[in-house]
Amino acid sequence: MSDEKNNEIIDNDDEFENVCYMCRRPESIAGKMIKMPGEICICADCMQRSFDAINSSGFDLGDLSQSIPPEMLHGENIESLLKSGVSSSEDSEEKKDNAKNESRMPKISFINLNDLQGGIPGRQKIKKKKPGEKSKPIIELKDIPAPHKIKEKLDEYVIGQEYAKKVMSVAVYNHYKRVATNTMDEIEIEKSNMLMIGPTGSGKTYLVKTLARILDVPLAIADATSLTEAGYIGDDIESVLSKLLAAADNDVEKAESGIVFIDEIDKIAKKKDTNHRDVSGESVQQGLLKLLEGSTVEVPVGANSKNAMVPLTTINTRNILFICGGAFPDLEEIIKQRLNKQSSIGFKADLKDKYDNEENIISKVAIEDLKTYGMIPEFLGRLPIIYTLAGLSKEMLIKILKEPKNAILKQYEKLLELDEVKLVFDDTAIEAIAEKALEKKTGARALRAIIEEIMLDIMYEIPKDDNIGKVTINRDYIESKGVPIIEMRGTH
Ligand code: ADP
Repeated sequence: MSDEKNNEIIDNDDEFENVCYMCRRPESIAGKMIKMPGEICICADCMQRSFDAINSSGFDLGDLSQSIPPEMLHGENIESLLKSGVSSSEDSEEKKDNAKNESRMPKISFINLNDLQGGIPGRQKIKKKKPGEKSKPIIELKDIPAPHKIKEKLDEYVIGQEYAKKVMSVAVYNHYKRVATNTMDEIEIEKSNMLMIGPTGSGKTYLVKTLARILDVPLAIADATSLTEAGYIGDDIESVLSKLLAAADNDVEKAESGIVFIDEIDKIAKKKDTNHRDVSGESVQQGLLKLLEGSTVEVPVGANSKNAMVPLTTINTRNILFICGGAFPDLEEIIKQRLNKQSSIGFKADLKDKYDNEENIISKVAIEDLKTYGMIPEFLGRLPIIYTLAGLSKEMLIKILKEPKNAILKQYEKLLELDEVKLVFDDTAIEAIAEKALEKKTGARALRAIIEEIMLDIMYEIPKDDNIGKVTINRDYIESKGVPIIEMRGTH
């Protein structure tokens, strides 16, 4: 009865592919599955192998019992079971053996089959292709916005960073044009993988997120610091693709045209002066090589590492756009050193320190600086598009507060509008918030924290009094020197 029920569950669940419980290959690779009770599926290969293993005398479950002390076994007493087995089989040796084995079977009941039958959680299932469904390109050429359209959209959300927005729009447009027209194979065009260098909170993640939303492609955001070489504590390198698969609702084809953003890429720079194996630095760069250039990779579904119980699927990374981002602290020093060295040769020797006070030195980055930093040449070679983001100035922070479509001040104004209260941040207040954020040196990230702190009391007090019609926040309130100006209804 329960078997029927379980089988039914599998049959009805036709959105996802079945995965072999033993070899973890999905139906599309391993072929038709044999369904067992408890949502377990086994592929024909593994089933055959299991029979072979049982038939060859090498593996005898019954033998297990001999190594296990009787007190560890559930159920009946082992001795009595053995005796009953032996007493019923005195005639021939063969019969005796059979009976002995039969009597041994209950002894393996300590293996709780129910534990094994938990089935595979939904997030570990792979989307099935409908029979006869032809794989159609996920992205149509006509749907890809032109670079200036992409940049226009980015402008709505991201303040400044003009150069980065331009580079990204063109690179992304070219990339998806290749994907849509499938010219990736015919002409050997380099993938448009990118390396984005910019200080914390300058909008690296935000740019990529906005870009993925504009293009409506799945996006995975991974942190390079958590990655380690397979077999070490940490996430396997393929886990970045598991995240992408999850973002694509476990639909392999959709994932194969997505974007992967790997943040904190500077943290996997080659460690200097170490005799140990660099499992979280250079090895991770090595491991990422094959993903970046495009290859077929076995990916754990719904987990961060390839362990025993996780189903695997294969993903081709040829059309996946990889964007790496990092703050690269101290890179400026390396660039300065290089520039100073160059200028101290020959006639320009007197200008030795001329770059020391130059602003935005980071934009002068060259491949050799990144090599000095500890990125391996092969890795850099697979990121052909390298660009930098500027640190945010006070003016930019002010714009970020006010201008984007989903600007944080607009969000609070809307929130209070629902209570029919008008919220006004006067210019002095906005300036004060930007100055406070600048001090924290975490870019635009500080803005939200500051505003949330100052808004807490206001959001708490205002709903208490229905007569409040308008709240004006000024510099004094931000600097904790005064209170907001509150006007009652009908007075304005
Ligand atoms: P990081 O460069 O460290 O990845 P993020 O992209 O996570 O920084 O930025 C943090 C937050 O700051 C974003 O969620 C976004 O709201 C805001 N932000 C950062 N830079 C900008 C920008 N140039 N324009 C608009 N908002 C920004």
